[in-house]
Amino acid sequence: MLVLDLNNIFVMDTEAIVIRIKTPSGDMDSSVDCPSLLNFNDLLVAIRDVMPEATVTAFEYEDEVGDRITVRSDEELKAMLSYYYNTMNEQRMNGLLPDPLQIFPRAGKTPGIRNIHGLKVNTRPNPANDCTHTVPDSMTNNSLKKSSAELKRILSNGQINALDIHYQEQLGHGNGGTVYKAYHVHGKRVLAVKVIPLDITVELQKQIMSELEILYKCDSPYIITFFGAFFVENRISICTEFMDGGSLDVFKRIPEHVLGRIAVSVVKGLTYLWSLKILHRDVKPSNMLVNTRGQVKLCDFGVSTQLVNSIAKTYVGTNAYMAPERISGEQYGIHADVWSVGISFMELALDMFPYPQIQKNQGSLMPLQLLQCIVDEDPPVLPVDQFSEKFVHFITQCMRRQPKERPAPNNLMDHPFITQYNDGNTEVVSMWVCRCLEDRRSQQAQGRV
Ligand code: ATP
Ligand code: MG
Repeated sequence: MLVLDLNNIFVMDTEAIVIRIKTPSGDMDSSVDCPSLLNFNDLLVAIRDVMPEATVTAFEYEDEVGDRITVRSDEELKAMLSYYYNTMNEQRMNGLLPDPLQIFPRAGKTPGIRNIHGLKVNTRPNPANDCTHTVPDSMTNNSLKKSSAELKRILSNGQINALDIHYQEQLGHGNGGTVYKAYHVHGKRVLAVKVIPLDITVELQKQIMSELEILYKCDSPYIITFFGAFFVENRISICTEFMDGGSLDVFKRIPEHVLGRIAVSVVKGLTYLWSLKILHRDVKPSNMLVNTRGQVKLCDFGVSTQLVNSIAKTYVGTNAYMAPERISGEQYGIHADVWSVGISFMELALDMFPYPQIQKNQGSLMPLQLLQCIVDEDPPVLPVDQFSEKFVHFITQCMRRQPKERPAPNNLMDHPFITQYNDGNTEVVSMWVCRCLEDRRSQQAQGRV
């Protein structure tokens, strides 16, 4: 599996080594504490930082007879490190101190590709930073040294580093990518990492990274915490808080008193996003996460237009939770999110998609024609004999065909269904999540799931 491969790259000698990057303006030495965790892309990012004027796409090293060998991938990097360890061992056996591993960046003519993570490297020699005493100091005046801590900073994207993530089981698979449970070694916490393959230019990668920046600023108990994102080769990994209850789409019919508390959190989460001028754009049960502490949080909101567009190029279809005006290709705003709240909660209450003619088998993307009934027909209504008047009214209001007739953010918070359950009682959701997880476990044990 792609991501697990990442985790298992280079299980070899873990002894620290010194890499000397040979640049036209001099050498830069970097101590790498744990070369077994080094990967091609991160090394390339560090090289591009010291040679920002060139388009470096690969680098070379010299074999024992002086032939240059090109490194363009993780596999080739692994081969280079393996060769270097042999050389080091031979030098030691001959009573010599090992030379640094010399690499020669291969630069194209056009400037342009830059360090996409905006990492800064101080290219001036700084004796105070010199921590590479384990190697002979044979450097010229032009030589530069980097402490291992500094190299680590260079090789990470400032927040979270691909090399520090240990992937565990797969949590689910959506239209855009695959979500894994993972452990972040430095942060000492469990994460959910969404890995999305994207064949896009470095320019677009940069744009996505900068569009995702706003996620660091999101700070709400009703929004999933974002820990960072990075590109490795042609895939982006987005790291967020792990929710041990998973998403609401996998729960069976949810009782109204539990749904009420969940709705309060969802409305609060959306109100928060709207206050930041962010539309969620993808409200649906699989993007509402719960945990055993009774917290409910929204995820997968569309802060990066480029990311949404790039995924849309690969996955064709229209989202069944979209408001009629979106399905028709009209302009839309906050009210479109409100429709999606209505249809999602109706589905969660009924345990079936409210338009029986729409069969959502796998995922929520459908051919546009199939969704035409959402545009043409009167919206469905919850059966009044099974649900409270307040709940039925809430759903009916959210699913008004005319966007302006749907409740605005303040009206949503003030709706009697929401005020009734806005009691801060997380126990109710917590106990329900724990019970459902317990039921699932015992069914699995009996081989029923
Ligand atoms: P789409 O790709 O259209 O958003 P989706 O929401 O079903 O569809 P993903 O977002 O890829 O797909 O998520 C897949 C599954 O991974 C979710 O349904 C959920 O069960 C699980 N998941 C996602 N994020 C987390 C998280 N932070 N904690 C725990 N489980 C998660
Ligand atoms: Mg999702």
